[in-house]
Amino acid sequence: MQTTFRRILILFVGLLVPLFFACQSNSQVDAAPSAAPLLSASPAKLDPLPYDYAALEPYIDAQTMRLHHDKHHATYVNNINETLKAYPDLQKQSVDSLIQNLNQVPEAIRTKIRNNGGGHVNHTMFWQIMAPKAGGTPTGAVAKAIDQTFGSFDAFKQQFNKAGADRFGSGWAWLVSDRQGKLSITSTANQDNPLMSNPNAYPILGNDVWEHAYYLKYQNRRAEYLTNWWNVVNWQAVNQRYAQAQRK
Ligand code: MN
Repeated sequence: MQTTFRRILILFVGLLVPLFFACQSNSQVDAAPSAAPLLSASPAKLDPLPYDYAALEPYIDAQTMRLHHDKHHATYVNNINETLKAYPDLQKQSVDSLIQNLNQVPEAIRTKIRNNGGGHVNHTMFWQIMAPKAGGTPTGAVAKAIDQTFGSFDAFKQQFNKAGADRFGSGWAWLVSDRQGKLSITSTANQDNPLMSNPNAYPILGNDVWEHAYYLKYQNRRAEYLTNWWNVVNWQAVNQRYAQAQRK
């Protein structure tokens, strides 16, 4: 009797241990993506570029990157801090939250927060979704979703580039995802972020079509900049944002 019990126990443990490890490894694969870190407003801070200024050459030149990050993005950050000086309660919120709830921001500073908060959030994403030795065809879940939604990567690029080319004046072209992972292309003016008008349009990829993003190298040739830009897209980061979109 005791021997039978021992055998069952050994069998049970023998089954349970591999099952436990199988679940462990599955949970790593299926783990919910971590939330995108929110940008502090107490104070807002400019993170250094995640690579060298010259790292995206020859597609984006070092001087453009230096001015774009150290001057343009820095100005948005400084303006947020200057604007929020008299609003300690608002400083407790994230910049992300402020720009997604602009109607709760006092009217006197609403436009400043919209422009500079949007500028900070948009550029923080922009540096992250580019990388040296990147580009090429998309990878992972986003590659599949792009093919399903737009037919092919080439068809997608064409539509996205058109959104960027058609944006009159300054703004952004975006690939956004809803919470179900459905993709769409959109464009915004100035430093507006898609989440300002639609809380279910999480930007997973965005290209800055302000002249400051390309004028030194491409002058008036925005279309050429839009075409070359695909050589620096960091698909790994885009996939992370795609997972974050579906987590919200
Ligand atoms: Mn810019």
